[in-house]
Amino acid sequence: MNKPQPLNNSLAYLDGAWKPLTECSLPINTHALQYGTGCFEGIRAYWNGTTTNILFLREHFQRLSRSAATLMMKAPSVDEMCAIALRIAKDNNLKQNIYLRPVVYKKGLNLGPVLINVPDGFMCYSQPLGDYLDTDKGLNVCVSSWQRLSDNALPTRAKATGGYLNSALAKSEAVLNGFDEAIFLNDRGQVSEGSAENIFLVRDGCLVTPDRTADILEGITRQAILTLAKDLGIPTVERPVARTELYSADEVFLVGTGCQAAWVRAIDHRPVGGGVRGPITDRLVAAYGEAIYGRSPQYRAWLTAA
Ligand code: PMP
Repeated sequence: MNKPQPLNNSLAYLDGAWKPLTECSLPINTHALQYGTGCFEGIRAYWNGTTTNILFLREHFQRLSRSAATLMMKAPSVDEMCAIALRIAKDNNLKQNIYLRPVVYKKGLNLGPVLINVPDGFMCYSQPLGDYLDTDKGLNVCVSSWQRLSDNALPTRAKATGGYLNSALAKSEAVLNGFDEAIFLNDRGQVSEGSAENIFLVRDGCLVTPDRTADILEGITRQAILTLAKDLGIPTVERPVARTELYSADEVFLVGTGCQAAWVRAIDHRPVGGGVRGPITDRLVAAYGEAIYGRSPQYRAWLTAA
């Protein structure tokens, strides 16, 4: 995802107009560009050989609607946004896994960082997308020197475009230092999340993840993993997680729409669980993989056929 994208001339939506992506442009003084005043979603759609199935279509637009409300932006209705995304996935008919990127943004040309009296816009486009992180080989991650944004500074619960500078600083530092990904601590020094993923640990057979007050994005994949774990009879707990629990955990993995479910091999040069993928991670990754490709009737409702 951080590689430059090849020219992608697929159908996109920009403020009421349907155009090829390469013909969509915005004025350079657009408020959202100058001040980061937008919020967005990343949605995956999986091609199973016959159908493109969008994963958690409605849940993503419900979250976008809540992000917009928090940031005092007006989004189209959830139904309208779902219909736009569906049309993009259907018309582009790419016959491969794709990623949909809807954005609610301040399209006004006003000067000054304020959210009121600046007109809002909505866009959505798609692109082909394979794996974001290598999910097979195990991730080599570090605890970031950058602190997670706090809820009282820039709420991570609202998926704000400007907030991703925080992620970009952490991810860049991690990669330059030879790691695959960064784990944020929050302003209380507790484990929060990855630069674009939620985190799970396994301790003594129990699945542990930072709770919703840990300055995380309330991830849709996180919720799916909690559901799968409950259905598989794996005990789960959402609670504050201390930094050194990362070093004592039997298993650690990261989840998100982009990364899907990726196991962690080492944290800050300490192998996790002997540096091999653990059994609970295995079960959950397998169950998630079956569900997203429509092979689990139990979770068929997670998918919307395009
Ligand atoms: N945290 C952050 C900071 C993210 O950017 C993402 C990716 N959207 C996630 C967690 C995972 O969220 P989701 O499962 O909804 O994609």
